[in-house]
Parts: sequence; C-alpha cells; structure tokens
Amino acid sequence: MKYRHSTAQSADYLRLALKRMSQQDAGLHPASYAIWYEYVAGTNPVLKAAVDAQIERDGRLNEATTYALYARHVADFDAKTALRIGDSVNHIVEQISESATAAGEQASRFGGSLENWTDALHLPGGSGSLASGVEDILRGTREMQEAISALQIRLEESRREVQQLRQEVARAREEALIDALTGLTNRKGFDLALAACLKEETREAQGPCLLMIDLDHFKRLNDTQGHLFGDQVLASVGQILRANVKGKDTATRYGGEEFAVILPQTPRGGAISLAEALRALVFSSRVRRSGDKEALIGNISVSIGVADYIAGESATEFVSRADRALYMAKAQGRNRVVLAPRPQSAGVQ
Ligand code: GH3
Ligand code: MG
Ligand code: MG
Repeated sequence: MKYRHSTAQSADYLRLALKRMSQQDAGLHPASYAIWYEYVAGTNPVLKAAVDAQIERDGRLNEATTYALYARHVADFDAKTALRIGDSVNHIVEQISESATAAGEQASRFGGSLENWTDALHLPGGSGSLASGVEDILRGTREMQEAISALQIRLEESRREVQQLRQEVARAREEALIDALTGLTNRKGFDLALAACLKEETREAQGPCLLMIDLDHFKRLNDTQGHLFGDQVLASVGQILRANVKGKDTATRYGGEEFAVILPQTPRGGAISLAEALRALVFSSRVRRSGDKEALIGNISVSIGVADYIAGESATEFVSRADRALYMAKAQGRNRVVLAPRPQSAGVQ
C-alpha cells in the first residue's frame, strides 16, 4: 500500500490538500489531489521541491503543469507496484509453506503415536494400555484436524489475496501500455497495436497507413523555455492527436518527442489529409506557459512521414519507410508532410 495513513490523519491531509488545490488553476481532479496529498503529507520530498519551485516561478499550478508533475513524481506505478506484488506473492507462498510444514509435522507425530500404541499392544499385558492408546490416537487426530483446518483457512485467505493481486497485475498491465505524460498508448502499446493491425486475417481492404510525427527543433524549445514547458507542449500535442484520431486508429507516443498514428482502415489519400490537418492544428496551437497569463507560446511545428502499407512487408519495414519519409520532411525544411515512396516493384493497391 502506498498510503498508510490512518483515517483521521488522511482526513487532515484531505482538508489541507483541498485548501492548496483550490488555490491553483488546475481542476480538482485525482491527479491534482494526488500531488497535493503527497505534498501536505510530506511523503514525497522530490515532488514537494518541484511543486515549490514551480509555484515560486509561476504562482499557480495549471492543468498542464499539474499533469506533468503528476506524471514525473507520482505515477511511477510500474517499478514500485511490481516490487510490491513480488513481495506479496512471496509472503503468500511463505505462509502456505509454513502451514503445510505444520500439518506435515502433526501428521508425523500422529504416525509416531500410532506406532507406539501398536508396540504397546504387543507387550505382555499390553491390552491394559489400550485405553491410554486410544486417548493418544484421539488427541493426535484432533491435533491433525486443527492443523489441517488452519491450513484450509490460510489457503482460503491466500486464494483471496491472489485474486486481488491478479486484478492489480491486470491493471498494471493496462497502465504499462499507456504513456503517463500524454495519456496516449506508449511504444509497447504501439508495437502490439501494429502487430494486431498487420495480421493478415484481420487486415482491412483499405490501408493500413502509418504516420510518424516528430516535433521540430524541440531541443531548442526545451533550451529556451525549460523542460517543464517542453512537457506541457508534448501533453498538448498528445491532446491534439487524441481529439482528432478516432475509431480503430491508435495515437501513440512513440518515444521522446516523437508520436505515431496507426490508421488500420484508411487509404493513402485519407492518411495524407489527416496528417496535413494534424500538422496545421499543431502549428496554429498556442501553449500557455504555466502561471504566466501573458506568455502564449506558438510556432510549434511537427514534421510527418506517411507510409501506406505494401502487402507482405514486415512491421519493421513499414515503420522504417514512414521514418524515412519523416526525415525527408525534416530535410525539406520541416513543418510538412511527406508520403513515403513505394518501391518500383510494389503494385499500387
Ligand atoms: P528536429 O527538428 O531535427 O527533430 O530537432 P529536435 O531538436 O526536435 O531533435 P533532437 O533529436 O535533436 O532533440 C530532441 C529533444 O527532445 C531532445 C530531448 O531533450 C527532448 N525530449 C525528449 N523527450 C522529452 C520529454 O519527455 N520532455 C521534454 N521536455 N523534452 C524531451
Ligand atoms: Mg524533433
Ligand atoms: Mg526526434
């Protein structure tokens, strides 16, 4: 468990966090609450320092800064959860094995007392000890029954714990495919979605097409406006993609400042139009620097490579063709869309 505070203590933190949350520009949502809860509880000193620095600079936290802080300092779900799940499974296994050992010891004691009783019956006048032998057996049987029912209770508890852990693992798996900063599918999710889309039996008559999108001169933007603002820009481009990509399409953060969109049912013409629309939307967007009412930063642009699938090519070849088109767009001056050429031998679909 990440938060181990008592109900009373957490209620105090809730009041303190609410007060701080209401002083910001960001909405009163769980990401904001998580930040301020950890802030007032003092459990995350690195987050606290980052929040203090941000407020010192901009006065208030806005939506994008809040999400950026959340992504960077709170949602490091994977590593910690994996460790915790590992610990819990170890704990369960230890408990089961302790109970099984106890039951085994009882059983061997019971066997021992049976042997003693049999020996006693064979001694001259042994039948006189029959009564105490029966008592021994009864006691041994009771002890064994107790050990076994303790084992059953433990096993039932373990079964419930394992069920709960399974649910957590399923959630962790889902979250492992999402990029925390933009909320888009991440690189791993991209690989899975592309493999599924290229499966021969599910492939649509039209498409698929692939867009590889890279922010132009992003290093310069980071250098001049700061890395946190860079994160805001990435989140904002993520939002533009999410809002304009629908149905079976998958928008992903491919890595760093690079995005990709898989369009399973879209022909080449549709893919080029979408790429052009996305390019124009990014170029006309303005991102507000957190807390700074004056500064709306514009001139953010992307270059986009578009590839339409050639029957039989592998996912890697498909991605590299889109990538090569992207670099042609960079070489031709950026802020533009380039369609990947098809090799001469490939027929037009
Ligand atoms: P080009 O137009 O040729 O693509 O130039 P560029 O500056 O965008 O490309 P380059 O590959 O030189 O630099 C990419 C930059 O993206 C460098 C890196 O610091 C930044 N970057 C990558 N991931 C993140 C991120 O998560 N947040 C922020 N703020 N910056 C990032
Ligand atoms: Mg770039
Ligand atoms: Mg790049």
